Amino acid sequence: MNRILLKCAMVMVISVACSLLITGVMMSANDMHDPRGYVIATVCPLVISPAISFLVFRQSEKLRQTLATLNTVMLELEITNAKLFEKSSRDSMTGLLNREAFFNHMEDMRVRQRGSLLIIDADHFKKINDMHGHYNGDGALMAIAQRIDDSIGPDDSLGRIGGEEFAVYLATDDEAQVKSIAETIRLEVNNIEYRTPENELIPLSVSIGGVVGVSSRTIADYFQIADRRLYEAKRSGRNCVCIQSKMQHAA
Ligand code: GH3
Ligand code: MG
Ligand code: MG
Repeated sequence: MNRILLKCAMVMVISVACSLLITGVMMSANDMHDPRGYVIATVCPLVISPAISFLVFRQSEKLRQTLATLNTVMLELEITNAKLFEKSSRDSMTGLLNREAFFNHMEDMRVRQRGSLLIIDADHFKKINDMHGHYNGDGALMAIAQRIDDSIGPDDSLGRIGGEEFAVYLATDDEAQVKSIAETIRLEVNNIEYRTPENELIPLSVSIGGVVGVSSRTIADYFQIADRRLYEAKRSGRNCVCIQSKMQHAA
């Protein structure tokens, strides 16, 4: 309010000054020398300008406040949107990227860094659920997810692409390195000593299929190749790794 009153006072002073100047010029030009002219030239803007300028400045102050509120609301909306987007791209049980988000992420990543893909599938998980119940199955899945996450580097990405299926995008296309990381994941999961609340030990293992050197083909193509390798790993008795080299799929 003080700001508005101050602005009104300034307008009033300027109006009076201008009015006196114009009156002075006009009276001199017409050879008039009546002091009442100056009184009128002072009183008129003194009466008119405060009321009008108060209305105008109050409106613009309201507009300014509304704009500031709007800006705050828009900022909050942006934050909420970002949170929603983040939530919609995560799997609620493990907190990992979900299938769609992983595909999108991999699409972005491979432009920046030639890498490799692993598909990791928990072995005999139906049997685990049947023997120990779905609740313990969930716990075991979370333990597997955590162990895979612990086995990969900060530049690698992990997603849950199906019920008991995970995918890793490794930021390397070095075959020996890819095989070594896949083997570490397999071993680490196999070393988990997961126990039910009744202290029953649930043996865990994963089979891993992979492809080295994700480059120009479609993401779906690479998933298909890695999937075929996963199938091979399952057929070979599970708890093992089967990786397709660059040479093999380039041919
Ligand atoms: P394989 O070694 O051939 O992969 O055998 P599998 O039993 O793991 O494979 P299958 O595809 O026959 O069954 C997958 C099982 O994984 C069945 C399903 O109930 C279980 N599963 C999938 N998602 C979840 C989940 O979120 N929680 C639990 N507890 N089980 C799940
Ligand atoms: Mg399975
Ligand atoms: Mg499966």
